[in-house]
This record gives sequence, structure tokens and C-alpha cells, in this order.
Amino acid sequence: MKLAEIGEFGLIKVIKGMAKRGTAVVVGIGDDVAVLESCSGKLQLATTDILIQDVHFSLGFTDPYHLGRKALGVNLSDMASCGGIPRAFLVSLALPSEEELDFVRSLYQGMMELAAEFEVSLVGGDTSRGGCLIISVVLIGEAEQGQIIYRRGARSGDQIFVTGTLGDAALGLEMLKRGVKEGDLVQRHLSPIPRIKEGREIASRGLATSMIDISDGLLADLRHILEASGVGGEIWLSRLPLSEGYRKGIEEYSSDPYLLALTGGEDYELLFTSPPGRGAEIMELAEEIGTPITPIGEIAGAPGRIKVYGEDGEEYPLEGMGHNHFKV
Ligand code: MG
Ligand code: MG
Ligand code: MG
Repeated sequence: MKLAEIGEFGLIKVIKGMAKRGTAVVVGIGDDVAVLESCSGKLQLATTDILIQDVHFSLGFTDPYHLGRKALGVNLSDMASCGGIPRAFLVSLALPSEEELDFVRSLYQGMMELAAEFEVSLVGGDTSRGGCLIISVVLIGEAEQGQIIYRRGARSGDQIFVTGTLGDAALGLEMLKRGVKEGDLVQRHLSPIPRIKEGREIASRGLATSMIDISDGLLADLRHILEASGVGGEIWLSRLPLSEGYRKGIEEYSSDPYLLALTGGEDYELLFTSPPGRGAEIMELAEEIGTPITPIGEIAGAPGRIKVYGEDGEEYPLEGMGHNHFKV
């Protein structure tokens, strides 16, 4: 069987089936972050993400500095999605020997600046000659027992919330492809800001029953929560938080103003569910930390199923939206 037939998630299932779980493993393959018990009494966290030239990025649209920021940023985003505290990271790099040293310096400069902002240290890695540029980051962190949020805890009746705005990064990428080099949306694509602080507060205040970061697009990542939790979800289009720039820019790209807000990847916002009655606390938190948090729907309906309602209250048609590696 070819990988294209089973897709990225089918492949992950196969690998998961082969992995033996040790006693220290609290959560293994299948969430954004692996969770291990440690002798300190705290939980130890680990996550990894790989960026491959011409699969995840094109050097035509990004520079090494921003690429470095992003390579670490996407891992910080996964750490944010469970409410973890990032501590240290390792970087494995493959690249052609013809590459300039200055290119590699800029790449690490980008990583180091983001690392300083989030107080994480580079503590190791590996380098190798390779056919194209590949950056793999492993991020290690920790969390107090009971202050960590998984994908699997959503329950019927919970409200669905999202931080920030949706679709900006995907629209930014479309703009880059058309030769636009600057602006807020382009920046959102090149240099996502991981929601570490937001994730920490949501987790430590016990505001969420499940949480994920939006890397593959709202619908695809919501589906991960629904599948892990065995519930269904409803989204209201009129509630989706859209930036001014997105509202203006989307017209040129699509006749459907919600397309990239629903399916565009790489916003690296947090998507989470909260029990009914916690909305006021969530709005207080948003005010306190200066990050918008918006209720966009509810956990309801058949397990694994997403229903999206348009402004007219009618169900909005969805066909296989979201990102999946290997599937063609
Ligand atoms: Mg990945
Ligand atoms: Mg993730
Ligand atoms: Mg990720």
C-alpha cells in the first residue's frame, strides 16, 4: 500500500500501533505534545515538528531569518496548545554543502531571537549534508500535574473558543505568491506568534476541557478535537474572528469570504472548548492579557461530525477541507 492511499493520519496510526508504551508515558503519540511523568513530580513535555524545503516552505517566499523563527515557533505553538512551559530545544539540520555560512547564521539568528522572547535555550541537535534544506526541532517543556490540556476532553454542551483571528496566515501566503512582500498578513505567515502565555493561563485557570493549536486549519484541527473526544461540533460563520486585512484581501482571492478562515493553515492560534458558564472568566482573561478570544460554536451533534452554519442560519456545505500530508 502506498502512503498516498492511507494519508498522513493513516501513517501515524500504523506507527502508533507499533510503539510500546512505557509506564512513565502519560500521553504518547496522537496529541500535540507527549507527556511523561518525571521524578520531580512535574510532567515532562516533548514535541517535534519538521520543516522541509518546497513542502513546508519555499525560499522564494521566505528568508532564512524568518524560517528560523518559524521552525521554533511552530513547536512553541504545539507546547502552547497543552498549556506547557517551554524550556529547551534541539535542532537537527540537513542542507547542501554549497549553502553559505551566512544563510545558516541568519537561520539561527531567527531562532535565537524567538528563543530569547520565550526563554528557551538551544541545547543540542545534529547537522548533516542533505539534498535540500530540512529543519527538525525538538522542544522540551514541563507543566504542573493537573494543569495540562489534551485534545480529548471536549464534552457535549461545551462552548468552542479561538484566540486571535483566522485565515490571515493562509491569505498572507497567497499574497506572497502574488509578489506582495509586506504587510500584516504576510507577517502572520512568515512569523507566527506562538500563544504560550494564552495557553498557560487557559490551562492553569482550568478554563478548557480540550485544546489544540491551529496548524492545519480551523476545520481540520477542530476535527482532531472532536475525534479525540468522541463528540461533534457546530460552528457559526458569523462569529468567526476575521481581521480587517483579511476581510479586504479575501475578496481578491475567493468569492467565499470564509474559505481561508475555515481551511487555511498556519494561523497558530489556540482552539479550545470550555464548559458552559465559564464564558465570563474567558472574556476577563482576554481583557487581562490583551489577546482577543472569541466563542465560535458549540460541542453538539454526532461524534466526529462538524456542522457549519452560515449567516442565514442554513448549513454551509463542506467538502474535504483541511490539510493532510501524503494524500494527493
Ligand atoms: Mg508536523
Ligand atoms: Mg499542533
Ligand atoms: Mg505542529
